[in-house]
Parts: sequence; C-alpha cells; structure tokens
Amino acid sequence: MMDIPLTLTALIERAEKYFSKKEVISRTHGGLHRLNYGKIGRRTRALASALEKLGVKKGDRVGTFAWNHHRHLEAYFAIPCMGAVLHTINIRLSVEHLIYIINHAENKILLIDPDLLPIIEKIREQIPTVQAFIVMADENASIESSLEPLYSYEKLVGDGDESYEFTSDIEENDPAGMCFTSATTGKPKGVVYSHRGIVLHSMALSMADTAGISESDIAMPVVPMFHVNAWGLPFVATWLGTTQVLPGPMVTPKLLAELIETHKITIAAGVPTIWIGLLHELENGEYDTSSLRYVLCGGAAAPKSVIHAFESKFGIPFIHAYGMTETTPLATLSRLKSYQRDLPEEEKLAIKAKQGIVAPGLEIKVINENGEVKPDGKEMGELLIRGPWIANEYYKDERTEDAFQDGWLHTGDVVTIDEEGFIHIIDRTKDLIKSGGEWISSVELENALMAHEAVFEAAVVSVPHPKWQERPVACVVLKEGKSLTKEEIIAFLKPQFVSWWLPDDVIFLKEIPKTSVGKFLKRQLQEQLKEHLTT
Ligand code: ADP
Repeated sequence: MMDIPLTLTALIERAEKYFSKKEVISRTHGGLHRLNYGKIGRRTRALASALEKLGVKKGDRVGTFAWNHHRHLEAYFAIPCMGAVLHTINIRLSVEHLIYIINHAENKILLIDPDLLPIIEKIREQIPTVQAFIVMADENASIESSLEPLYSYEKLVGDGDESYEFTSDIEENDPAGMCFTSATTGKPKGVVYSHRGIVLHSMALSMADTAGISESDIAMPVVPMFHVNAWGLPFVATWLGTTQVLPGPMVTPKLLAELIETHKITIAAGVPTIWIGLLHELENGEYDTSSLRYVLCGGAAAPKSVIHAFESKFGIPFIHAYGMTETTPLATLSRLKSYQRDLPEEEKLAIKAKQGIVAPGLEIKVINENGEVKPDGKEMGELLIRGPWIANEYYKDERTEDAFQDGWLHTGDVVTIDEEGFIHIIDRTKDLIKSGGEWISSVELENALMAHEAVFEAAVVSVPHPKWQERPVACVVLKEGKSLTKEEIIAFLKPQFVSWWLPDDVIFLKEIPKTSVGKFLKRQLQEQLKEHLTT
C-alpha cells in the first residue's frame, strides 16, 4: 500500500475543495459570524503565513486561549499545518496552573480572546518564553492592553497570504497539538497529539457505530475547544464538511436551547452538568429540539435519570461516551447492540448508563491484583487502554512512569466489564470510598441521588472516619422551590443500597463546586469536609 502520511493538512484541504459552500456558524462577543469552508480555508492559510512571518518554526508551541469560535477553528489548522504545535490552554485554570503549563510548553506565541486578555496581562512577567500576543477580536474592536507586542488577528489575516501552501515537511508522527489534563487531581499533565493520532481518531468518530458524524450533520461542540480539542469534533467536522455551530463564550442552558432550535442542531456534545442544566431549561420552557439526532455526553458519568429524561420526556437520544485527555479522547461509547434493542426499557437504560464498548482501533483490558478480571459485570479492576490515538507519555513529566507501563495507559479508573464487553466506571481510584476495607462507589450513590425528582445535583465524597477509615458524605443541591430533609434522602436511598453504603451525612449546598471543564470538584468538598466525621 502507499505510505501516505496521515496529517491534518488533508482535512482542511478536503473541506476547501469539496465543501466550500458549507458553513461554520460562530458566536463571538462581536455577534454571529457565518463563514463557509472556502473562506475558512483561505483565512487559515493567511494565518499560517502570518505566523511564519512572526518567526514560528517547525515544532514551536503556539498557544490558544479562547472560546469556541471560527478563529479558534482556523488556529486549529493553521498552527499544525505550518508545522507548529497547537497548544490549547484551558482558560479556567488557576493562575498558578496557567503559568506552569505555558512555561512547561514554552509557548512562543499566544492567541487570546479579547475578554481573556486581563488574565494573561496579570501573568505576563511570569511567562518569559512568550514573544508575541495575537488578539482574536473583530476587525473594528478597540482593544486596550498592556501586552506587548500585541497583534490584531484580523489584521494579520487580512495582510496574510491566502494562497499560502501548507508545509509538506510534516511526518505523520510529528506533534500537531497538545493539551494538559484539567487537573481534577494534582498538577496538570501535558499530552501531545500527533497528526496521525488525530486523523485516526477523526476516522473513528465518524464511524456509524461510534459518533457517526456525517456531512449532513449540524454539529455543536459545547465542550470547550480549550479542552481535549472539543473531543476532536472540529477536526472530524471540518474533514467531512459538516456544518459547525461554535457557541462562543458563556453558554447558558437558555442559550444552548435557543441555538439548538435556531440552527437545527443534529449533534451536540458536552459534559453531564451541561445536560443537567439543559434538561432543567427544557422542562421549564418551550423549545423545539426535534432536529437533534442525539446528544453526546462524556467527561464524567451520565446519571441514569438524566439519560432517561432526555429520551423519554423529550425524545432526544442520549449517547454516553468515555475518554480522557490522554485518549484524544474517544475510548469507549455506549450504543445498544442490535440484539439488545428489544430488551425491557429498564435493562436498556442500564446499558446506556454504562460507558460502553471500546472504539474500533483500540484495545482494553481490566486488571486487578489477581490479573485480568472476569467479564461478569461485577469484579472490579483498573482499566488499561492502548491504541494509535492513546498517548504514550506525559510531556517532559516524570509522572509518565506511573501511568504508562508495558505499552498500556493505566487510566486510574476502576471499572467492571460485562460479558458483552461493556465497561462500567465504578469510580476514579481516588474517589472510591474505602469503608472498613470494602469499596463504595461515589458515582453510584450520586446517580441514585440525582434520580430524586427534587435533587438538582449531588456529589458524594469520601470523608475520613475514626472507625471505618472512610465514609461517604452526600452533598446535595435541591431544585428551586423544593425541600427535602436528610432523613428523607436516606430513606430514598435505603431500598437501593446495602445499609453500609448509605451516606453518614447529607449536606445541602447552593452549588456543587466544578472543575474548569464543568465536572464536580470533589477534591474541594473533601478538603472542606475532612474533619466532618471526626470532630
Ligand atoms: P482530568 O483527569 O483532569 O479530569 P480529563 O478530562 O482527561 O481530565 O478526565 C478524564 C477522566 O474523566 C477519566 O479518567 C474518568 O475518570 C472521567 N470520565 C470521563 N468520561 C467519563 C464517563 N463517561 N463516565 C465516568 N467518568 C468519566
């Protein structure tokens, strides 16, 4: 067979050549923008030429600090297709982590959204490798900033070369992008994506039995482009000429519902907290969501009650997927097998709530101290993954040794695997609650709590206990206007769990603290509650 390198250049070139009329609709502070792939392609080339003029060389890391919009999409292709490395920086990281990752990646240039300039201005002195800043504002926006030198994105693109030839000096294993884990636990770890890895991941995402993305879709990544490449959607959607709706800054549930209705979105992707919020909005408003083929949910466990409500109340199919920054991220996805479609509703729901079977192209294994676990849906072990879009190290980081061993990524996720091959994430190793030598899954308790009609969100954390070592404590946010006591909550859980799984206490909160990508930040709750059961 021909040995043609798999590089991102082919993706954008295909969109330019065959889908020049198809559009990318994007929301920025300046309003709504509609650009077709022909225009996006020319602007991408102009941006690449401008970066070259600014001195960006092969292998240099160019950072983006931006929301989901068309300029960010152009940077997604301009940077890797001129040979540099697209480093998407999570805008919600703490100042300390931002400084750490920009320095660790030794970013040469940063492309920044105008509303995010103040964050970078504050840390300018601490990021000495950065030689220039580019502000991704509209053409006529007036920008004031202390950052120097500061270039206007639109001016660079306007003055750039629209017929710039992307470099042919790229090997398929060259780095195309990098992203740091969102640090739910510890200091961010850098993951580098190769051209080949992203191309193969894009192929996997487009398979009918995975995300099945097609040219005829209208895809909206709600998941941020600053985290794991918005799950790779911008890459595959561009390749296929899929219409993209990039929702820009500050996406509220109301805005989300409106965008779905207005643009007739067929696929939307986001973490569970996004869907919990949207559900509440749909329950309280009148929206037409009939265009949705499905919503894709990952990043944290999707509560069964949420899957059920989407499907039964609103007729919106709900696909649950699992992955990590290290896995580009698609690793497993839950779709019923053809012979499972006639199962009773309750059983089907239980399957959909699992994280699913491994994507074609990857391999998994589940191990514990006794070796590989039995595929009985009961025995627990750590999930290991390998494949062509799985990272093989952390970028210049000694923690590589903990996670990458014998050619497998050790995910740190504790799972069961059933006879059909569906994995079920019981918990992160770090979140499992060890009570008197036995394990309790915080995720199972959370799912049960969130199935109560008065509960909006719930997180269960492990709290040190003098006798049992650790015990579960539930933190619960009630829906507006609802009331519930601790005793009522425990009584609700009682028939569903053995007694020693029941939380020792229930704490009512206004909000569950979230990570930078909207997952429950259990570490913070744990810290606050660490003496709750001992004093
Ligand atoms: P971080 O590790 O900083 O949170 P990631 O976004 O890479 O950054 O998170 C990956 C982790 O998220 C996985 O290891 C797993 O624990 C969790 N996760 C992802 N998808 C799911 C899912 N569908 N169900 C349960 N947990 C999930």
